[in-house]
Amino acid sequence: MNGYSGRILYIDLGNKNSNIQTFDEGFARKYLGGNGFAVKILYDGLKPGIDPLSSENIVVFAVGPVTDTPAPGTSRAYVATKSPLTGGFFDSTFGGRFAISQKRTGFEAIVIQGRSSVPVYVYINEEGGRVLSAERLWGKNTQETIEELLNIHGNSTDVAAIGPAGEAGVRFAGISHQWKGRHGMAGRGGIGSVMGIKKLKAVVVEGKQKTAVADPEGLENLLRECREPLKKKTQGMTNFGTPILVGLYQAQGALGTRNLQQEVNSCWEAISAERLKDNYFIEHSACAQCPVACGKISLVKEGEFAGLRWKMPEYETLFALGTMTDNCDLPFIIAANRECDLLGIDTVSMGVTLSFAIECYERGILTNKDTGGISLRFGDPGLVFDLIQKTAKREGLGVLLAEGSFRLAERLGPEAKKLLYGVKGLEIPGHSARAYPINAIGYATNTRGGSHHDHRPTFRAIPPDDPLHQDLNLQVEFVVRTQNLSAVGDSLTQCRFATEQGLGIKLGVNHLRLLNAVTGWNIGLEDLEKIGERIVTLERAFNCREGMSRKDDVLPYRVTHEPIPEGAAKGKYFPLEKLGMALDYYYSLRRWDKEGIPIPDTLRKLGLEFAIEQRHSE
Ligand code: SF4
Repeated sequence: MNGYSGRILYIDLGNKNSNIQTFDEGFARKYLGGNGFAVKILYDGLKPGIDPLSSENIVVFAVGPVTDTPAPGTSRAYVATKSPLTGGFFDSTFGGRFAISQKRTGFEAIVIQGRSSVPVYVYINEEGGRVLSAERLWGKNTQETIEELLNIHGNSTDVAAIGPAGEAGVRFAGISHQWKGRHGMAGRGGIGSVMGIKKLKAVVVEGKQKTAVADPEGLENLLRECREPLKKKTQGMTNFGTPILVGLYQAQGALGTRNLQQEVNSCWEAISAERLKDNYFIEHSACAQCPVACGKISLVKEGEFAGLRWKMPEYETLFALGTMTDNCDLPFIIAANRECDLLGIDTVSMGVTLSFAIECYERGILTNKDTGGISLRFGDPGLVFDLIQKTAKREGLGVLLAEGSFRLAERLGPEAKKLLYGVKGLEIPGHSARAYPINAIGYATNTRGGSHHDHRPTFRAIPPDDPLHQDLNLQVEFVVRTQNLSAVGDSLTQCRFATEQGLGIKLGVNHLRLLNAVTGWNIGLEDLEKIGERIVTLERAFNCREGMSRKDDVLPYRVTHEPIPEGAAKGKYFPLEKLGMALDYYYSLRRWDKEGIPIPDTLRKLGLEFAIEQRHSE
């Protein structure tokens, strides 16, 4: 089978056994890889209603047919589970080289089940998986863990590891990978805490198996044609990386500040891409085989953090640990980012949970009794740094913060819930839900809730005279199509930046040419769109089986009730009536019922008959 090995590895941490199962081309054509494989494996393998932080949960690392081919951005690794934060299907990706090494093991998916009674890690090569002791790694940070495992297994291996936060069951703990000094995090959704509860410290992969490409010439022709457009369209990313968004969002009045009380920040220039480049940049860094090199390494030259060399904070981190907590002190943000990476914490959920807690404190909803006497205030870098560490260790106020903003709000009551900035239990990243209607519709309907990686937040780049800005139905259609694109992209397992800028923002002929050249298939655009639709619908069926429906496709109170108070987007919000209309149209496009539950006919047409009986939770 071109593009695929046809093998899936199952490892049970409880009895330390592993077994290999095979799949055929029919399965590959239906679910594609990565995201598609993972949602099918998790749908089949998990009983509805299980506690995500229990031995019954499963973690799936999966790759796709184009991984480790010459196509750019195909080194993106993919991991999925039932999230301890949202209670639904959840996936996250990370850059580096891990995906390529996993692909070379010949296992398209690695499925980790059960729980060990003692700390372990798994080592996987072409022959299968071994469960090995991680007793002496337990308690170490992500970098120490990765370095120690590379010392044991050699530099031809790749490691994905959790830090102390994952061990402590922090609900937004992530998984870290390091390659050539570049830290990649599968940050979102708490997958690191699922590994932690399983006592699984790390996954190590190593292999030599090459991916067979059916039509190398066709692939080379496509890549030659896409090379220049990719280079041109990613120039900003190559020069500055994602921090380029700070200035853009500030200009558009969409830079979330002080827990979204404002969407402009007067000190934004202090954390701008230009400031980072001029004062801190020392070198570019790229994932394996990627010409874009959006990663940047920074060095703090003076002050308290002098000598600190770490990856440049991504835009999301500048938002969450910067403007949301009202800190525009770059050395501090670089240091806080490093702390989160080493402890294994998602910077987005950490920063947004902190900004929520600070606003609750300022309004008297959270008291000194809850904080253990600590005064919370915006614009206090030392406080943020301290609370990151307390959260990772579940110490003092960190016990509450480690549960995420939604569980904290549940404890504090209805006034606190009005200050939340998240959907389905997941804190929203720095792509404004109030300034851009596409983000509002996306967050409300996404499988993961407050993630900008289910739909795409590229609305900001659409010219102001485009009818998309005014027409709600066009906006809903855009969300559906970019959700399908993301599902396919995460199944091919390709990096968003490289895919969108190289192949296109919607599924199109270039995606087809790529897939057909690698696999030797001859599928059409309609088939590819249907694969995306199938994956999104199966994710939805998974969530409905957990009890989710229209009642969960909501937006934060501030987004539906409080217009942006100042700046270029002043007055913008997304009222409830508009959300209701958007949901009706969205469900009709997806052919789900009025409650947002996929109907039997839709499931049948997508080949998901097995999900008909289990559409609702018991
Ligand atoms: S664009 Fe950036 S994140 Fe994507 S593969 Fe290239 S270096 Fe990695």
